Amino acid sequence: MQEVQRKIREKARNLLLAGSVDFVIGFEEGALLLRASPVFIHKEDDVEKLIWDSFCENNLAAYLTKIGNKRVAVVAKGCDSRSIVALIVEGQIKREQIVVIGIPCQGMIDRRRIEKEVEGEILEVKEKSDEILVKGDSFEKVFKKEDYLHPSCRTCKHHNPVISDILIGKEVKERAQVDEYAEVDEYEKKSVDERWDYFNKEVNKCIRCYACRQACPMCYCEECFVDNSYPRWIGKELNSSDLAVWHIIRAYHQAGRCVDCGNCERACPMEINLRFLTKKINKEVKNYFNFETGLDITVPPPLATFDVKDKQDFIDSGE
Ligand code: SF4
Ligand code: SF4
Ligand code: SF4
Repeated sequence: MQEVQRKIREKARNLLLAGSVDFVIGFEEGALLLRASPVFIHKEDDVEKLIWDSFCENNLAAYLTKIGNKRVAVVAKGCDSRSIVALIVEGQIKREQIVVIGIPCQGMIDRRRIEKEVEGEILEVKEKSDEILVKGDSFEKVFKKEDYLHPSCRTCKHHNPVISDILIGKEVKERAQVDEYAEVDEYEKKSVDERWDYFNKEVNKCIRCYACRQACPMCYCEECFVDNSYPRWIGKELNSSDLAVWHIIRAYHQAGRCVDCGNCERACPMEINLRFLTKKINKEVKNYFNFETGLDITVPPPLATFDVKDKQDFIDSGE
């Protein structure tokens, strides 16, 4: 980790000194323990703020749709890099605007699980090679990193950046044997009533703060359908019907676009399992179109393209 951090700083300094980029997006120490915060480095004197550890959880591609015509370097894990590809494919950023500082990723820690498993205020956190040491006034606990990865990282099959201009660190072995859709398969085994109950139990916790939307790199519309009042697509209340519509449309808008980075779920103050819907849609897109988001800079997502020879038999002719 230390060596990766040193190299991130070195590369960032070089890019800024050479004037190759206007600023660098990376991570700095968070104001809270167990967290790193996104940071924008404009001057070479500030590169020492950049860090790399197992708490660099944000998908930094979320900032790239707001850079205007600047040229920017961005620290990118596997999922960030896939979102970058998806944003390029969707015409939201230009490849030549972005210097991708790719970091092969071992997975990020599920800080909420750690917070729930200690009693009292956390006063110190140290990361060793495969462990996290957490201390408070009356406790000291060691967490094995592998056992405390965020759910999105436990099923991730693309740890290595799919594109990078500068690669820092050795590529990691992808976990080909992981059953990425195990949770979806379990959900599908439930009866219709059980699925409906689970869906409602989750979405009825929603307070419609839209932190999930703000955190998602693919939610870049200047005016979101939920904010639109003319035409008004959806009610703005916290009743089950409005909440269901909001969550179903949010999930459908991610078809062929979500990289399962978990940014939305981590941002949600109500700890709603948001990924069960987007993951289900990812599975359908993979089954029907053999497509995974952000793996190929030349291939548009299935719902954003068509071929005149496509089968039309899904259209009811009314006969
Ligand atoms: S989803 Fe994959 S690439 Fe992204 S942080 Fe988790 S392990 Fe790393
Ligand atoms: S919907 Fe959630 S998991 Fe999917 S890309 Fe957006 S933030 Fe990441
Ligand atoms: S972050 Fe959570 S509570 Fe806020 S709108 Fe999204 S799902 Fe609802």
